[in-house]
Amino acid sequence: MGKLNVAMLRYLTREDFRVLTAIEMGMKNHELVPATLAASIANLHHGGVHKILKELCKHRLLSYERGKHYDGYRLTNTGYDYLALKTLTSRQLISSFGNQIGVGKESNIYVVADPEDKPICLKLHRLGRTCFRNLKEKRDYHAHRHKAGWLYLSRISATKEYAYMEALSKRDFPVPKPIDINRHCVLMELVNGHPLSRLYEVDNVENLYDDLMNLIVRFAQHGVIHGDFNEFNIMINDEEKPIVIDFPQMVSVTHANAEMYFDRDVKCIRAFFKKRFNYESHLYPIFEDIVREEFLDVEVSASGFTKNMDQFLLHELGMVDSIEEGSGEESDFYENEKDEVEHLAERVAELMKEESSEVLGNSTVPPAKEMSDNAKSE
Ligand code: ADP
Ligand code: MG
Repeated sequence: MGKLNVAMLRYLTREDFRVLTAIEMGMKNHELVPATLAASIANLHHGGVHKILKELCKHRLLSYERGKHYDGYRLTNTGYDYLALKTLTSRQLISSFGNQIGVGKESNIYVVADPEDKPICLKLHRLGRTCFRNLKEKRDYHAHRHKAGWLYLSRISATKEYAYMEALSKRDFPVPKPIDINRHCVLMELVNGHPLSRLYEVDNVENLYDDLMNLIVRFAQHGVIHGDFNEFNIMINDEEKPIVIDFPQMVSVTHANAEMYFDRDVKCIRAFFKKRFNYESHLYPIFEDIVREEFLDVEVSASGFTKNMDQFLLHELGMVDSIEEGSGEESDFYENEKDEVEHLAERVAELMKEESSEVLGNSTVPPAKEMSDNAKSE
């Protein structure tokens, strides 16, 4: 597993960034963004934009594609990563980039360093691109309603994860402390430990089992179910205590299939302990016995991560069968192309302003570099 390709962060100019952002904005409503549209959104001269677009393609931040009706540009994964990392870097949260430490089903995980050179964790969410579940259905769905499927999905996945991590860590659940989020990238505390999947010997198997079952219960008392509570999403530290990660698939205890997901989480732990440690207990939680005491699910959906967004995401993750009409749509609607261009141009200008004020706010800090070999974690 390699390093994040971040060399470009240093070389791209402000205008490159502006054009890249314009394509991102254009993709809200267009599968492919024609050069002319990009130029008007970026508010730059035509000739200049062409050159920049070509350059961005060469660096694989954009791709040029032929569509059915017209040709245009599309942001690549790398391009989207670039935009988010550029923003997080200019907020001065990342001082250097290190190695990839994990590849999940729906993400890439890297170690980066904070301004004090402390290693922290960067999770890049990647949804809707490599998953072939419901492909036909999804293709139709995206074709009609969501031109920017993977951009949007990855972003709401990160948004949900961040919102849950905030709510959970506020209540002292053992989860990584969230640091910041931009687009599809979440910065969080680096867990000091190893996935349960790599634990072969344990000092007190009964304690660990109890800790995990108690966590499932405590989640549910707060109104939520993890939904993917397995040995890869549970980290174990030196004190043999669990730290839970990976939250995009969390569901409320009011979900139609809540009991099924709750039982599945419980069963997962029971099966693992039996297989790995030959440990079986007749004690395990039952959904019906749970008394709800808090409304973490409600709090999160009130915090900007709406129910509609969640529906769209859970459908992608296979946690709900169908999406209600009107779910998951972004609210950007335009009367005509002129409105759209004006609106998007404004958004680009705002993003550019954020970026430059952050950079100018403390110009003594050099741009993030790659971590030196002795500073990176294994
Ligand atoms: P996915 O949703 O793709 O499964 P995860 O959040 O489960 O992504 O992360 C994948 C892997 O990366 C984990 O199994 C773990 O090994 C590692 N990882 C994720 N978050 C952290 C963290 N905060 N600290 C240390 N390792 C982590
Ligand atoms: Mg995982």
